[in-house]
Amino acid sequence: MRGIEFLIPEAQEAADEFSARCWENNLDVKITDTLRSEAEQNALYAQGRTMPGEIVTSCRYPRSLHNWGVAFDFCRNERGREYDDGDGFFERCGAIAESLGLVWGGNFKKPDRPHIQLAKYSEDKTAAWLIETYERPALFMAERRFSALAITPELAMEIVLAGIHRLASEPADEWAENAMLWAYKNQIYKGDKTGNLMPKKPVTREELAQALMNYRGAFENDKQ
Ligand SMILES: [Zn+2]
Repeated sequence: MRGIEFLIPEAQEAADEFSARCWENNLDVKITDTLRSEAEQNALYAQGRTMPGEIVTSCRYPRSLHNWGVAFDFCRNERGREYDDGDGFFERCGAIAESLGLVWGGNFKKPDRPHIQLAKYSEDKTAAWLIETYERPALFMAERRFSALAITPELAMEIVLAGIHRLASEPADEWAENAMLWAYKNQIYKGDKTGNLMPKKPVTREELAQALMNYRGAFENDKQ
């Protein structure tokens, strides 16, 4: 379970505002679930399928909006009565969420009353557009955080580059920096598990073949 600081900045604001508005209306809510990692999402997906328990999600990573930092769950802030809905608690909170321009899961075809998500980035209520546009949640979340900090894409790239330099066992010479950055951005060089691009290391035939294949992949993607 993670706090709202793991959401993208817009969703953090939305969660704060939602909680405050509920409180003003004598609805004491508690945020229970925000960002879910790949392992957490897939463990949840396994529940009721390959693992014991009831089915709780129809989404594998990264199809849940929780994987993108744009959704959060809530319950009643009352021990033992967290999901008690005898007095229409969730419906009233849901109405507040919708009045703030958020999407409440209680109105889904398969209702998910404790769930709220941003309307932005998921017009069809799914992660389809995010997956299509960003592929990986980390890229989307980094972009939203950079943009909230008013960091330009160029500066963001410099930060990434600084990270590459830091990780490199031996940094690339200045004349090769642009080429290294290009190869990295186009995923021709992917580096080792830690992101170390090993700029000074000789290339084996295996690595050359892989880099050529990566190049072809990048080129084909360009044409789509
Ligand atoms: Zn949820």
